[in-house]
Amino acid sequence: MIEAIDKELSIFESMGARFDIAARKLNLDPGLEKYLRTPNREIIVHIPVTMDNGRLEVFDGFRVQHSIARGPCKGGVRFGSQVTLDEIRGLAAEMTWKCAVVNIPFGGAKGGVACDVPNLSPGELERITRRYTAEILDYIGPERDVPAPDMNTNEQTMAWIMDTYSMHVRHTTTAVVTGKPIDLGGSKGRREATGRGCMMTCDEALKRFGREKQSTRVIVQGFGNVGSQAARLMHESGYKIIGVADIAGGVFNPHGLDIPALLEYANKNHSVQGFSGGESITNGDILEQDCDVLLPAATESVINSKNADRIKARILVEGANSPTTPPADQILFDRGVFVIPDILANAGGVTVSYFEWVQDREGYFWTEQVVNERLHAIMVSAFEQVAAYGEKYNVNNRIAAYMLAIDRVAFSLKLRGIYA
Ligand code: NAD
Repeated sequence: MIEAIDKELSIFESMGARFDIAARKLNLDPGLEKYLRTPNREIIVHIPVTMDNGRLEVFDGFRVQHSIARGPCKGGVRFGSQVTLDEIRGLAAEMTWKCAVVNIPFGGAKGGVACDVPNLSPGELERITRRYTAEILDYIGPERDVPAPDMNTNEQTMAWIMDTYSMHVRHTTTAVVTGKPIDLGGSKGRREATGRGCMMTCDEALKRFGREKQSTRVIVQGFGNVGSQAARLMHESGYKIIGVADIAGGVFNPHGLDIPALLEYANKNHSVQGFSGGESITNGDILEQDCDVLLPAATESVINSKNADRIKARILVEGANSPTTPPADQILFDRGVFVIPDILANAGGVTVSYFEWVQDREGYFWTEQVVNERLHAIMVSAFEQVAAYGEKYNVNNRIAAYMLAIDRVAFSLKLRGIYA
């Protein structure tokens, strides 16, 4: 098992370190800088839930709304025993920057509940979700804040949130969440969107380097929503996937893995560990194997000051949020690794979430082809704009993405002015 956390900086501190560099490069007014760095609102709730054995438990839940400068807040809800307010605060700010990078009319938020998911029954998870929703009900809604799935939450979780909200407001409000089942107002293409967006940005990087997909070897860490879809789509489009790992362990084959067979295996066994089509490997060691593209799609801080100098990939596509710590940024930059930062690489998810919100409000649904074409146009344009900022200001892709985003949010704030 890998030690996922680099203790040097928390997610919020990491966000702040990058924000400070970008704000300085932009010559941002100090007052505006303070405003943009601070969340609008932080909600802490304590959720009483009757467990299956009749005992009453109380769980801590959070929703941090970082910015509404460009539209309603948008951001996932994650469940997990490690969830903290500080983590949610950092991820909420990153959602503001992510939505601005792809230029969709949302601000940023994030939510979470500290709970030990593997030890909860479906009924307990449903009761936690519904009571969490009820506790934050006044602060969410299609015009206020629109949650989505994240780690350990899924389409079913979104259906429960949508139903709970709808029961309270007395009418069905599909646009209160995105990432819903298609039969409840979800969008075609949403399930694949984050992985597809990762692939689209990787395709653009390959074009820059004049590389062919067929000779590009990819390693994916994390085989949940993002990692499994990215691996499947990249395999289908011609990339060679040579390694995959999840929390239990990984599998590595330098000649290429049979991804359809691996997907079937992982579906049955709830892990890629033990798959016979390659050698077994730990989820930490897999990051350091020789490859062309590394796609971390699991959890935060897995690339840190302790292992960054051993990363052999030439291109890093950040499917996960905050997989790289600031000290590792510098090491990767010095070694010439082309980093496609999380707020660009994994923005396909929030982009199709935006499409879902639009479709719910129109009550008119698009074909998957339309969704994918519009996603492609946005991802390619965002990639080019980040690259243009990088060239103009002579900064790496991560700082360029932050600068593009901060510029956009600051401009909206200046136009709106400060309400007093
Ligand atoms: P998920 O819960 O569906 O899957 C997570 C995967 O990572 C699982 O395979 C799990 O076994 C694995 N994992 C967890 N910890 C690990 C570790 N220490 N080492 C190796 N594998 C580990 O979650 P997801 O929705 O795929 O999200 C993954 C990441 O992508 C998160 O950082 C999330 O915030 C980010 N993200 C998700 C979306 C989305 O649309 N789901 C959008 C943007 C960003």
